[in-house]
Amino acid sequence: MTFDNLNLHDKILKAIADVGYTEPTPIQAKAIPLVLQGKDVLAGAQTGTGKTAGFTLPMLELMMKKDIKKGRHQVRSLILTPTRELAAQVGDDIATYSKYLPYTTAVVFGGVGINPQITKIKKGVDILVATPGRLLDLVGQGKLDLLRVEFFVLDEADRMLDMGFIHDIKKVLTILPPHRQNLLFSATFSDDIKTLADRLLNNPTLIEVAKRNQSADNISQVVYPVDKGRKKELLSHLIRQENWHQVLVFTRTKHGANKLVKELEKDGINSVAIHGNKSQTARTKALADFKARTISVLVATDIAARGIDIDQLPHVVNYELPNISEDYVHRIGRTGRAGNSGEAISLVCVDELDYLKSIEKLIKKPIKKIYEDGFDIDPTIKAQPIQNGRGGGQKRGGGGNRGRNQNRTQNNFGGGNISSRGQRGGGNQRGTANSSRGANRGR
Ligand code: AMP
Repeated sequence: MTFDNLNLHDKILKAIADVGYTEPTPIQAKAIPLVLQGKDVLAGAQTGTGKTAGFTLPMLELMMKKDIKKGRHQVRSLILTPTRELAAQVGDDIATYSKYLPYTTAVVFGGVGINPQITKIKKGVDILVATPGRLLDLVGQGKLDLLRVEFFVLDEADRMLDMGFIHDIKKVLTILPPHRQNLLFSATFSDDIKTLADRLLNNPTLIEVAKRNQSADNISQVVYPVDKGRKKELLSHLIRQENWHQVLVFTRTKHGANKLVKELEKDGINSVAIHGNKSQTARTKALADFKARTISVLVATDIAARGIDIDQLPHVVNYELPNISEDYVHRIGRTGRAGNSGEAISLVCVDELDYLKSIEKLIKKPIKKIYEDGFDIDPTIKAQPIQNGRGGGQKRGGGGNRGRNQNRTQNNFGGGNISSRGQRGGGNQRGTANSSRGANRGR
C-alpha cells in the first residue's frame, strides 16, 4: 500500500513525501480510512508505530473538507497528551504534516508561562495540542473556547490514567460540544481504559497493530544480572566497551536519575538527567543536546521520557526495572521505532527479580540473560525491599510484589535462558552464537 491509496489531499501527500515516508505504517493503513469515514476509533498502538500521523493525516483531510469559513481560526481539533514532551512532539509532527495547509497549531502545557500561550490563542488557533491541567486552566480563565471542537484525540490514554488525569479528562469531556469525532490511543487496555473508552467513544471501531502488551519484535532484549552496588560500574563499562553514543537510560526515581548522572560524569561520560523537577527549558535543552549527540547519555524517569521521539535511537537501558510492567514496554518502545532495530538492556539486581518475572509474564517470553565477565553476582547478597520513591498519589497498579523476594540468590535469575559472554545470539540480532563481543557488537 502507498499513501496515494488513502484519499489524502495532494498538499498532505506532498508534506509526507518531504519527510521521506514512502508507505503507511500498519496503524496508519488501518486508522486513516476509518477516521476519514468519520468513525470513532479505539486504537491499540505502541509508541513508535507512527500513530501520530495515523490520526493527524486524516484529521487534516477532514478539516480541509469541512473548511467553509476561510481565514477564521477556531479550535476545531484538540489533542490531549499526558506530558509536555509528547505535546511538543505531537505539535511538531502536526506542523510538519500541515505545512502546506492554512492551519495554525498551538501547543499548551504547564511548567512554562501561560501568557505567551494566551497571546497565541488570541491570534486564532485551528489545532490545539494540550496537557490536561493547562488546558483546564486556560478554559477556566476564559481564554480558550472549545465549543467548535469537531475532532478530539486522547493520546497515550493509559499513561494519562497512570498519571492520575482521570478527573481532568472527565472535566474536559464536559466542556466539549457533544457532536464530535473521538479517537483514543493506548498502548495497553486495562479495565480502566475500557471504561474510559465506553464513556468517550461512540460506537467505536477497535484497531490494534501490535498484540496487546507485547513488546515490539524488532527490539532485542537482554538482561544483565548484576549486584545493585555495581550497576553504575557495569553501565560505564558497557557504554565504553560497546561504544554507545546515544543511549537512553531509565531510573525509577528523579533522585536516582540525578545521582547516576553525577556518577557517570565522574567516569567522564557526558550525561544529563530529564525528569519532572527540571524546568521545561532544561528538559528541552537536554533533549536537543541528546538528539544532536553532544551528550551521549540521557537519564530519564518514566514520565519524563514519554514523548521522546528520536529516530533510530539504538539503545535503551533499564538501569532499574520499573515496578509497573507496562512501563517496561513503554520504555523499550523508545528504541526500534518505525521498523528500525533496537536494543533494550536491563541491569537487574536480586531485589528486582519479581519485577523481572512480572515483565516476562506480560511480554509472554523470557528475556535472555547475559552474565558479563568480571561482574559475577555475589550470592551472599540478599534481596532488599525496593523503595519506589515515586509517591504523590499517582494511581499505579500491578507489580506490587515489593519485599516478598527475600533470600534470593543468583540462581533465581536462571531458567534455561542464560548466556555467558560469547554464547549469545539465537533469535535476536545481537550476533551469532560463539562470536566474540567485538565482532558482533561493532555497530
Ligand atoms: P509515533 O509512533 O507517531 O511517535 O511515530 C514514530 C516515528 O515514526 C516518528 O519518528 C515518525 O516520524 C515516524 N513515522 C511515522 N510514519 C511513518 C511512515 N509512514 N514511514 C516512516 N516513518 C514514519
